[in-house]
Amino acid sequence: MLTGRVLKPGVLSTKSGGSSIGGNIFSIIRFSTHDGPGIRTTVFMKGCPLACWWCHNPENWQHLPSEIYRAERCIGCGQCIAACPSGALSAGAKGVVTDPDRCEHCGRCVDACPAGARERTSWRVGAADLVRSISRDAPFYDQSGGGVTFSGGEPLAQSDFLLAALQQCSKLEIHRAVETSGYAEPGTMLAVARRTDLFLYDLKLVDPQKHRIHTGVDNARILSNLRALSESGADIIIRIPLIPGVNDDTESIALAGEFITRLPCEHGVEVLPFHRAASVKYAKLGLSYRAENLTPPPPERVAEAARQLSKLGLTVNIGG
Ligand code: SF4
Ligand code: SF4
Repeated sequence: MLTGRVLKPGVLSTKSGGSSIGGNIFSIIRFSTHDGPGIRTTVFMKGCPLACWWCHNPENWQHLPSEIYRAERCIGCGQCIAACPSGALSAGAKGVVTDPDRCEHCGRCVDACPAGARERTSWRVGAADLVRSISRDAPFYDQSGGGVTFSGGEPLAQSDFLLAALQQCSKLEIHRAVETSGYAEPGTMLAVARRTDLFLYDLKLVDPQKHRIHTGVDNARILSNLRALSESGADIIIRIPLIPGVNDDTESIALAGEFITRLPCEHGVEVLPFHRAASVKYAKLGLSYRAENLTPPPPERVAEAARQLSKLGLTVNIGG
């Protein structure tokens, strides 16, 4: 959930700022209280190898920069359609429609729009510049026990950039959290672990077939990486997003709970109920929202899932 102040593209330099390593980020949220302990600066990085159909952050799927469309500002002039070299835009009943399979993110439609209805929403930044910006919030970290959280997308999908930023934050003694789907090369995961104080690790489904159906990827690597991180002594909060019809049944929760109890070390668990706040983002991106008809789980169901996990001896919190 976004609670803090959003830093807009353009505030940071797009140059490398002395570091040769740069990466693509979508936004920086300052004064967040939902992405780890204390007051945090959360960096949302672009790109994700998963395709969870209920995703709350569709703006971060693409590794490349993305464009947003605001139908309420559109005057229907069609200049974006004419400017698009890929034929990705067409006139629809509710405004201009984007074909995501054709769009190559060249940004020409943004430049062509006379009404400010199209906007670039992400940008490239050097690791040194990013850390310089993060470090401005250091007084708040000191007072609250906070720090920086790298989120996404999947931050490990830009591993060189992530490692460089983590290393520089480490030198400044900034507490570092990484929110991950766990879908990464094992060597990369352990390299990140050496520079990370806390993982916020998503565990969606333990059943491999269901995982493939709902996220588009196999979960063997996700489960083995979680086991390896636990074995390494990493501090981990395991986050279970509770998605109706996907993993809110007692069997899926039991499988997740059993997997966690068999890990080498003890870890806290957070249950995160599905919410529909992302609906507006899909509309702006011109994407269809597959979770449109999904109803958030009622509080009693969320509490019941948390109780089921607690009975296995796990320490469980319900997140927002
Ligand atoms: S960003 Fe996508 S939709 Fe816009 S002009 Fe380029 S290819 Fe076309
Ligand atoms: S150029 Fe801008 S105002 Fe014109 S149709 Fe495209 S989005 Fe709408």
